[in-house]
Amino acid sequence: MPDEPIPFGRPQLDADEIEAVTRVLSGHTLVHGPVTAKFEKAFAARVGAEHAISVSSCTAGLQLSLLANEVGPGDEVLVPAMTHVATAHAVEWCGAKPVFVDVDPGSGNIAASGVKAALGSETRAVLVVHYLGLPCDMDAIRTASDAAGCPVIEDCALAVDARYGDRVAGTLGSTGCFSFYPVKHMTTIEGGMVTTNDDALAATIRQRRAFGYDRMLGQRRVTGVYDVTELGHNFRMNEVEAAVGLAQMAKLDAFQAARKANFDRLRAALADIEEVTVFEPVQGKAVSSHYCLNAILPEDGRVDRSRVLDRLKEAGIGFSVHYPVAVPLTTYYRKRYGFSPGKFPVAEWIASQSISLPVGPHVRPEDIDRIAEQLHDSIRHARS
Ligand SMILES: *Cc1c(COP(=O)(O)O)cnc(C)c1O
Repeated sequence: MPDEPIPFGRPQLDADEIEAVTRVLSGHTLVHGPVTAKFEKAFAARVGAEHAISVSSCTAGLQLSLLANEVGPGDEVLVPAMTHVATAHAVEWCGAKPVFVDVDPGSGNIAASGVKAALGSETRAVLVVHYLGLPCDMDAIRTASDAAGCPVIEDCALAVDARYGDRVAGTLGSTGCFSFYPVKHMTTIEGGMVTTNDDALAATIRQRRAFGYDRMLGQRRVTGVYDVTELGHNFRMNEVEAAVGLAQMAKLDAFQAARKANFDRLRAALADIEEVTVFEPVQGKAVSSHYCLNAILPEDGRVDRSRVLDRLKEAGIGFSVHYPVAVPLTTYYRKRYGFSPGKFPVAEWIASQSISLPVGPHVRPEDIDRIAEQLHDSIRHARS
């Protein structure tokens, strides 16, 4: 019998989540309720932030963060060329222009030197992404952005518990935006969270995630009576999603320990493959959240990634690609801004030659050994 396939990601849900959801559905409060408030409090404590504001997705959180920092038409926002397209889309939806900066060949993160060079008079914010959980070089980035008076917004979609010195991702800039999509570190099905230590930003984000109401439901002196002072969205999280999130948080320590152990085991098992690059924390103070193990093949193409992927697929090894196109080279951004290949060489290398391997809590140590063996085998066959 062939071995069971190992998926890239699999949400870890059991009777705890089912019971928590049932409890919410048996009651009458489905939004604006106590479960969401409790989840926000628990998440703020985990990150060590003053405020955590639940939202409907990380993308919504990024857009609200930009709006709260008054980013709008005519403004530019620096964005890494290698990220989820959501990072750049959030800027576009504010009517601002994303200015793409190539990433560092040692980390996949936005290059601090590139940030410094790209900061200009129109730059309103710097949006950094901790690529696959590896923290950006925040000291160097903050030195440049602070000097220019630009806030830094962190895309922490894959960086739950990532650390930089004595601080946690989500507290390294003006706001941090997390994702609870099914295959991230933890899930609420769809959902996200914005963390910040800034009271004013928190108040604006709370208001603009819910239509721009001047008073939240519980604060209305006369029930049903409110005014609207801002152009808001409906970007709220509901009570069912928050109940799933709270149940997930109770297991998060175990999830993270499994990720790290799986990552370390796989890293060691791949150490002898000369053609594979794996990014490591470089600044001596960064700790990754080990979202996956990204194995990057040589830029010169002497190992053909498509042949490696075909063979892994045949062997039932799940994988993903983060991300398959440098964002400026996606059709939308090419058409809009006229980018062509060659301008973002590091992002283009990662897009064409990286393979994200699973290390999530659904993966057992014996699965890791199988993944390593199959990668060795696949690369052997894909050498030209
Ligand atoms: C998944 C992801 C997002 C989008 O998160 P959603 O919650 O699905 O909106 C944004 N940025 C990065 C880096 C991601 O990996």
